[in-house]
Amino acid sequence: MKYSNRITKLNESLTIAISSLARELKAQGKDVLSFSAGEPDFDTPKSIKDEAIRAINSGFTKYTQVSGINELKAAICKKLESQNNLKYEPSEIIVSNGAKHSLFNVFSALIDKDDEVIIPSPYWVTYPELVNYFGGKSVFIETSEEIDFKITPKLLKEVITSKSKLLILTSPSNPTGMVYTKEELEGIYGAIKESNIIIISDEIYEQLVYDNIKFTSPGSINDDMLQRTITINGLSKSTSMTGWRIGYAASKDKKLIKLMDSLQSQSTSNINSITQKASIISLNGDCNADIENFNKEFQKRRDLAHKLINNISNLSVKLPQGAFYLFINISKVNKDSMKFCKDLLEKEGVALVPGIAFGMEGYARFSFACGEEQIKEGIKRIEKYILNLS
Ligand code: PMP
Ligand code: GLU
Repeated sequence: MKYSNRITKLNESLTIAISSLARELKAQGKDVLSFSAGEPDFDTPKSIKDEAIRAINSGFTKYTQVSGINELKAAICKKLESQNNLKYEPSEIIVSNGAKHSLFNVFSALIDKDDEVIIPSPYWVTYPELVNYFGGKSVFIETSEEIDFKITPKLLKEVITSKSKLLILTSPSNPTGMVYTKEELEGIYGAIKESNIIIISDEIYEQLVYDNIKFTSPGSINDDMLQRTITINGLSKSTSMTGWRIGYAASKDKKLIKLMDSLQSQSTSNINSITQKASIISLNGDCNADIENFNKEFQKRRDLAHKLINNISNLSVKLPQGAFYLFINISKVNKDSMKFCKDLLEKEGVALVPGIAFGMEGYARFSFACGEEQIKEGIKRIEKYILNLS
């Protein structure tokens, strides 16, 4: 069979591949501790499940509007206004099968051949693959630990060309957990305001911020930013709903939303009707207590893992302000992150994601979305692995 050029160039998501490999090894009876998964280990809150059961029993099991039912889009608008200071109307929202699907639709609607997409590095694995898939060109801005893995206006200005079309911002970041402040976002605005650059703001980890840090949505900075920002969010991480598949895109450009609606009408249609009903519970704040408990637990785990890893000689890690990942500096042990992760998995049964998957060598991503006992045991094994090397 002759496959399309487009599909043969596409790589599988490495984060998913490594999580699957760890799951497979475990199923074969191997003693594997996985810190590769990008999903909370908590159960979905009961109030959400109850609402889903109500939806099933009441027969809410048919096709809906492609972009989502009005009640859901209204709840999304209310949430974005009250929590993020972003004013959108329901006609400026489209609900898709996870934030990943929202990104797929947005990229499909905006990227033409040779359009440049500016991606701060380290980045989430999916962005460059999708840019490539749609014929665009990824332009990376290399950051470093010294600048908290964040881009600066100067670094941004250096890569802007007449072909620059999109800038991707992920705050809190996957894989580093860093969060942009309002002032930093204003600086970024200063660097792009003379251009036509559109911002894709991936806010999937927005509710997972620690130490009372305030999250700022790029679109809330000023009206121009609101007009040029496409806000992407979903409930996978905040409400522990990864398997339910809901994400959404919001844009002041109603035509863009309409175009994505047409694309979705020809591909997946509406998302699961039951998920739509159940998600309203979370968006309306009816499980805020659960979300707060998740966050408290994540913060405890972050502090524990951060301390234990920094106690290991030759490893170091910055304290993430959000999300549930530690981006560990392994460069004193092995600069080749793939080799490091492979060896660690083979020798100690610990699965991490190599930094190269996120475009940065000398690092490995450790997800603390798992219980404290697993964190302690996993880090003990990492320490043993390092000690045995010397
Ligand atoms: N953006 C980032 C940065 C992520 O880490 C993820 C996790 N998969 C997503 C988007 C997509 O999440 P989902 O499709 O589950 O909503
Ligand atoms: N976003 C998660 C991660 O980075 C889930 C896996 C994926 O969708 O790539 O691990």
